[in-house]
Amino acid sequence: MMAQRKQLEMEIERSSEQHPQDEQNNNDDDMSTTPTKKGPLKILFLSSDTGGGHRASAEALANQFQRLYPGTTYDLLDIWSDIDSSWPYNSIKDAYKSMSASPWKWRTLYHVSNTAVYAKFADFHSYYMNEGMIREKIEQYNPDVVVSVHPTMNYIPLFSIRKVAEKFDKEIPFFTVVTDFGSGHCTWFNKDVDRMYLASEPIKAIAQKRGGVPDEKIVMSGLPIRYDFAAQADAMGDRTTDEGKAHQQKIREELNIDPNKKIILVMGGGEGVGSLSSIVNELYAKLRTQGVDATICVVCGRNEQLKGDLETRCWDTVVSQSLNSYASLKSRVVTKLLSAHASRSRRIQAALDRAAAKAAKGRDVAEVPGNVDVIPLGFVKNMAEYMVAADVLVSKAGPGTIAEAAAVGLPIMVTSHLPGQEAGNVDIVLDGGFGDYCEDPETIALEIACWLQDSQLLDVMSKKAQAVGHPHAAEEIAQDIGDTTHDLMEKNKK
Ligand code: UDP
Repeated sequence: MMAQRKQLEMEIERSSEQHPQDEQNNNDDDMSTTPTKKGPLKILFLSSDTGGGHRASAEALANQFQRLYPGTTYDLLDIWSDIDSSWPYNSIKDAYKSMSASPWKWRTLYHVSNTAVYAKFADFHSYYMNEGMIREKIEQYNPDVVVSVHPTMNYIPLFSIRKVAEKFDKEIPFFTVVTDFGSGHCTWFNKDVDRMYLASEPIKAIAQKRGGVPDEKIVMSGLPIRYDFAAQADAMGDRTTDEGKAHQQKIREELNIDPNKKIILVMGGGEGVGSLSSIVNELYAKLRTQGVDATICVVCGRNEQLKGDLETRCWDTVVSQSLNSYASLKSRVVTKLLSAHASRSRRIQAALDRAAAKAAKGRDVAEVPGNVDVIPLGFVKNMAEYMVAADVLVSKAGPGTIAEAAAVGLPIMVTSHLPGQEAGNVDIVLDGGFGDYCEDPETIALEIACWLQDSQLLDVMSKKAQAVGHPHAAEEIAQDIGDTTHDLMEKNKK
């Protein structure tokens, strides 16, 4: 637990070191981030490293608590790994890693466990096997407030915290911040928590239907993302305006990327998963043939092998291989682009129809090839800047990544999703009209090439993304939780 806290603290230090200008923003009178006069809090986060998103949300919230209530301390407790928990709880992290790499296994696990009967059984079992140890850990920390950002930590820990509160004769509030976006597992939604923070209407519907969570306990807040995104969103404003474009150019220069070319950001979560390699090949070939000048930034995350491969790849070979299969590719793609898509926005479909008509007439091969380059990146810490610099994002349906892109008005091509929990994230993008879903690398490349040559379409998608984005969600949630906790602490003193 201590090691985790150290890591959390280092992350926070780094993010404030990286952006001294953020501190300046923080002092603006009208900013909701102005530190309050209320005292420090002792916060216990409940989370686990199943995917990168839960920790990222806890870090974003911790950062805001420290800014709003200076002197605040916190810890991150993984109730399954930090105690001597029983099987299967002690293997949750490893199981997540292996199961999520195999979609059918994940689909089975997700759907079997996402039932009231299973959830009740798991609660009953984990209560008898682990509750005493969980309560002991919470008691040792003796927090002012508990914040769960994990779907498996909303039932037994709440029971434990109520016991601890009784023992210490004080109120200790328990909040759930749901870090899934469009859909969520039933174990997220315990109606007995003090308040629940949700990011979308579809997830609110699930909270009410599956968990019976009453309206007065629900706060529609958006997904908590890092402060960098709020700072960038404020500095850029609307990216389709002259001011927005000027900010984007500045960031591109700071990142050392040609400011006059289109930029595509390709990523696959923290682990760099998905068919990134073939997607990049197809993007390179298509943009070159269609004469689009572009830089493809590939965030390989922790996937070092992919980074190495991209660094040594012969791009001329990639193009000639693609050109050799171009005739058959074209006929397949024209059919694909014209095929009906259940949720694609009409505007995107119209743009694709135009591109398909152009391809059918053989007018999609430019006389002058596009000037395209590929920048392979490792694990990127300044993601907000890269998302501001980019014109489009190509990514799997991670909730954090989608929320971050929306916060800075960046259109998204979603290329894969985990069955169950990430399926709803695809709908957020499609229903929000700020992107499309496609798994086939060739079609992805053609559609992206079409978007990049249609600035009006990009502008419309950007505005729609912005409408869904909540760049300040973390500070708003922290303020709400902090103020409520302070009220209870006052009550505890009486
Ligand atoms: N991320 C990052 N640097 C990288 C790759 C990913 O900071 O090089 C962050 C990304 O910005 C997002 C998180 O990792 O905040 C991934 O979370 P998401 O919920 O999208 O996917 P998960 O990894 O949890 O499946």
